[in-house]
Amino acid sequence: MKIPLAKPNPARLSESISRLRQMEDRAIFSNFGPLSVSFEKNLVSQMFGGLGACLTVCNATVALMLAIREALDSRPPSRRRYALMPSFTFAAAAQAAKWNRLTPLFCDIDRSTFCACETEERRMLERYGHDIAVVVPYAAFGYDIDLSRYERIQQHYDIPVVVDAAASLGTISSNGLGFGAGFSGAVVYSMHVTKSFATSEGGLIHSGNSRRIETLRCMSNFGFGEPRSATLMGLNGKMSEVAALLADLRLESFEAVMKRRTELVALYRRLLPNLSWQHQVPTRQAHQFASFLLPAELAQHRETIRSEMSRTGVASGTYFSPHVAQQEYFQANSKCGPLPVTDNVASRILSLPLFDTMSDDEVVEVADAVNSALSIVTESVAFTGNFASLDFREVERAGVA
Ligand SMILES: *Cc1c(COP(=O)(O)O)cnc(C)c1O
Repeated sequence: MKIPLAKPNPARLSESISRLRQMEDRAIFSNFGPLSVSFEKNLVSQMFGGLGACLTVCNATVALMLAIREALDSRPPSRRRYALMPSFTFAAAAQAAKWNRLTPLFCDIDRSTFCACETEERRMLERYGHDIAVVVPYAAFGYDIDLSRYERIQQHYDIPVVVDAAASLGTISSNGLGFGAGFSGAVVYSMHVTKSFATSEGGLIHSGNSRRIETLRCMSNFGFGEPRSATLMGLNGKMSEVAALLADLRLESFEAVMKRRTELVALYRRLLPNLSWQHQVPTRQAHQFASFLLPAELAQHRETIRSEMSRTGVASGTYFSPHVAQQEYFQANSKCGPLPVTDNVASRILSLPLFDTMSDDEVVEVADAVNSALSIVTESVAFTGNFASLDFREVERAGVA
């Protein structure tokens, strides 16, 4: 494919030989060595305004498993069995719930932010509240969700919240700090190579509550609260020093990376102003792809549109379709509220290429491919009405609920 959906661009270890050699000379390769500890400190000061603490983890899925476990164990034992979450997401949070013997309870999303809908979430909390063990919101595609709402949910319903912020490292909230800064529950980020903060495999947990992070650190290290002696439930979720070096190197160049990715998405929006883009974060969003909704009338032709694009060498994706509740395992292992918006958004979503080294010309090429695929399809499907009448900008008109 001439223009792939993503082009992984982690820091180059081959150009950081001296730092690799220092690590080898120290002969510390894991167990919260100096690289992972200094990375955690750097993130707290550079991204989270000095608030709370951070924990490096081997990946975000294990981090979600740990954070959900810690949230459950922070309350008196109960028979609560649901993890309330949106279905328009990656399967990891639902799997992490299952590993904790919880059943995902899916709630609908907002059509402009693609994140859990506040009204629906409240309705589910009122209806199932006594059975909900944890709420796991997802900051869709790095969107800056309002975490004060989740602080209120924790207080009002006395249910812990674990935020799936897998794609959010790099998002800046309205307070000028990195998304999640100071949140009292656990906020989980991924540093998988496909995310904006690309390493190889990596995860991170931040909380405004440093004690929570210390408990999670112990849980991620076999539950060892004392040297070689388990005091808590645990597993091995530690990050290796090589991964921590990749992470620290990414942090050094991250502002330039974010600047470029932000420019690329802004260019997409300028070149394709009539498409239904995700509601725009006023500060800065860490974009993994450039995602928009096809007009509802064209949803059934999405595969034709994608193959028209790929004929001209332009890749695309459909994150997240099928959404989690539609996936075979979760059809049998979850409970759903009504999901009309989720079904609709998942059927229409199209993700366009985005990568650090992408040129303006490549964005222009993708935009041309989108336009020509859309016009070919609208002509060939004997579409009733005309192209101009299609509702491309409904997200913008919907505003934020
Ligand atoms: C990428 C992603 C994950 C998983 O992250 P890993 O570090 O690969 O385990 C979890 N949730 C969402 C929403 C993601 O996009």
